[in-house]
Amino acid sequence: MDDKPMDKQDILDELEEIHKLDSDYAEGRILGSMCTEAHPFAKEVYCKFLDTNLGDPGLFKGTKSIENKVVKSIGEMLSLDNAYGNIVTGGTEANIMAIRAARNHARKYKGITDGEIIIPDSAHFSFKKAADMLNLKIVEAKLDENYKIDVESLKDVISDKTVAIVAIAGTTELGLIDPIEEISEIAFENNIYFHVDAAFGGFSIPFLRQAGYDLPVFDFSLDGVCSITVDPHKMGLAPIPAGGIIFRKEEYLDVMAVDSPYLTVKTQSTIVGTRLGASSAATYAIMKYFGKEGYLKLAQGMMNNTHFLAENLKKIGYEIICEPELNIVAFNHPNMETNELALKLEELGWKVSVSKCPIAIRIVLMNHIKKSHLEELLEDLKEIF
Ligand SMILES: *Cc1c(COP(=O)(O)O)cnc(C)c1O
Repeated sequence: MDDKPMDKQDILDELEEIHKLDSDYAEGRILGSMCTEAHPFAKEVYCKFLDTNLGDPGLFKGTKSIENKVVKSIGEMLSLDNAYGNIVTGGTEANIMAIRAARNHARKYKGITDGEIIIPDSAHFSFKKAADMLNLKIVEAKLDENYKIDVESLKDVISDKTVAIVAIAGTTELGLIDPIEEISEIAFENNIYFHVDAAFGGFSIPFLRQAGYDLPVFDFSLDGVCSITVDPHKMGLAPIPAGGIIFRKEEYLDVMAVDSPYLTVKTQSTIVGTRLGASSAATYAIMKYFGKEGYLKLAQGMMNNTHFLAENLKKIGYEIICEPELNIVAFNHPNMETNELALKLEELGWKVSVSKCPIAIRIVLMNHIKKSHLEELLEDLKEIF
């Protein structure tokens, strides 16, 4: 730090210069991100709530009631009338909370002290962090030839140490939905906690299903589902940080509660202490502003671009890994190694991402990618050969 105070304008000029190094969603060149530019209205609301702290909800009763309302309406979007949970920093924190709830619940009611969680190979890496922090062993369920959980292999790895099963509604790499209905039944019969990670798909699948898209049921209408992660800061167009963790029962929060002596409430179940109320307020505002109709339109627009891209890639000789279920297209070219193709695209100014399972170029068709950008991209992809 400098000894003397610095002039505001000089600071702003310096920061602006540095900020130029960042990529800008509006240019349509960011192809692999699951985040996008937040809606201007959500940003406006966010700024109004910057000083609120949900870590001490007795002081911020208004903002706390907003968080409760958001949790309730996300719950309703997921077929749950009385939802419990929190707006947290993102899918990672939401997943850690779910696994912590599952572990503590199994410890309390089943006496399991050296637990295991079953996750597929396609699971987000946040579960590795969760297992590490919570001292749980990861047991992997295999994927079938369509890159979804192989239910038989999942059955094989269930043991009396299993504290949670995880399935995904909208995988990070391919946007696929696991056979959640079947897994829910298995979890229910075996009395095992079942968490669905819909960080990515949670804000599109419900609306697309209502509009008649052929997508499987994945939510609390299935008896076995105990919690769901949904990220407002991905498909919900809320500003970062905004993740959602929704629990079916209050007891899952209770088993995580610790005493919080100096605060206005007696216990706290979240991982984070001092935490943003702005995320809840902005998420509340954007959900009201869009309504189901708005989100459906948004999701449909992204799905149209997804199909446009997939069809045109095939026409120019590329091979797509799977027919897209949500707004992600993964592809390769039979005559070029994936990493080389990624490098060539980077040289042409595209920000691409390469998936690991399987190795492929992966494009997430978020709201900032318009059809005109895709036309440019397809032109470049054609010219590479
Ligand atoms: C993005 C994502 C996460 C992690 O969310 P963050 O907000 O980046 O912490 C978890 N699970 C899935 C399926 C995701 O797509």
